[in-house]
Amino acid sequence: MAAALPEHGTDWETLKARMIASGDHDVKWREGKTAVYVFNAGPEVLAVQKEAYALFMSENGLGPMAFPSLKKMEEEVVGFGLSLLHGPEGSVGNMTSGGTDSISMAMKTARDYARSKGLVGTPNIVLPRSAHLAFDKAAKMMEIEVRRVPLKSFLADVEAIGAAADANTIMIAGSAPCFPYGLIDPIEDLGRLAEARGLWLHVDACVGGYAAPFVRMNGADIAPFDFAVPGVSSISADLHKYGFCAKGASTVFFRSEALRAHMIFDVSDWPGGRMVTPTLAGTRPGGAISAAWAVMNFLGVEGYRVKHRQVTDAREKIEAGVRALGFTVIGQPQLGLLAFTREDVDCMAVWGKLFERGWFTSLTTEPKGLHLMLSPFHLEVADTYLADIEWALGEVRKGAAGEKREARYS
Ligand SMILES: *Cc1c(COP(=O)(O)O)cnc(C)c1O
Repeated sequence: MAAALPEHGTDWETLKARMIASGDHDVKWREGKTAVYVFNAGPEVLAVQKEAYALFMSENGLGPMAFPSLKKMEEEVVGFGLSLLHGPEGSVGNMTSGGTDSISMAMKTARDYARSKGLVGTPNIVLPRSAHLAFDKAAKMMEIEVRRVPLKSFLADVEAIGAAADANTIMIAGSAPCFPYGLIDPIEDLGRLAEARGLWLHVDACVGGYAAPFVRMNGADIAPFDFAVPGVSSISADLHKYGFCAKGASTVFFRSEALRAHMIFDVSDWPGGRMVTPTLAGTRPGGAISAAWAVMNFLGVEGYRVKHRQVTDAREKIEAGVRALGFTVIGQPQLGLLAFTREDVDCMAVWGKLFERGWFTSLTTEPKGLHLMLSPFHLEVADTYLADIEWALGEVRKGAAGEKREARYS
């Protein structure tokens, strides 16, 4: 039966202890054994997130006139993002609650832009197969057709995307990087296609938008993927991932106000007065905005470079380690995500063994493999991970050998 609201209140100390205890069986992300869902940039950043969130927790980003503080913080955060992503003169953006929100708003904007240019009938979007399912979620809400196109060497196949696009295509997209493999699609080629055909190109930099610029500053050769590519119309970039901000914070950017204008909701046809909102949310948690502002100012370019150096070092170490154990790393990951596979062992079983040792990581399915999304903190536990995956491999092999013997003797 569902829990009923208690008749009597309970004191906070008791509740707090109960809540902390309720997390006993959660993944041990503070120990670095989680490489999905959580981005751990260390206790200092965590403390800034928490305090800055609490400072503006009750304030509401819905009311910029009431809270000019939040308005200014959002504008600055958007400015930080645009400056990192080569936003040209006149480029604009907003904060949203997350990547799904940013992508949904970009699609809504692209659709309404297309309608303003005369689109009739069912709109469609054309995506590489590796694009995030957030596009499909938004498409279901807006009755947009999704065309997923097979990959070429695990990357967006630009020619195939061009072939799948037609007069009702409101958007084509590439990822920087995609979630399943952590690889950056050929955005420059997609940009040329978009320009040649007059298509709206969205770059999903949800997971890489606040990583790639710093990894590049640290010396990596990362091809242009943002507004530096002239054909890019919009970009999504999540602050609550590699921006190391508190959850509930992302950004969506547009090349110009003329494009963003199609995102804004501005209606007054009810007895409550005029309502103008840039994104889907009505009430907007002030804490998500203030925490993002604080973390970005706390780290600055130098701080981010240090954190992303640690992420890169962790990835390179783990990449080399799993290769040495006989895995094949998919493509050439450049950021903090990687996927690796092998045919001679059941990777799902290896995942299960790692779970027994307290690891919670992700998986890829095409091909079946293991998947990691690394935080700065993982540099400290990379050796433990490699030792544990070597152990897990041994266990899975022993198990498989045991099963074979049993099969023979039965
Ligand atoms: C995480 C992610 C999203 C979705 O973001 P949420 O914040 O989880 O809604 C979209 N695209 C990519 C590439 C992602 O990694």
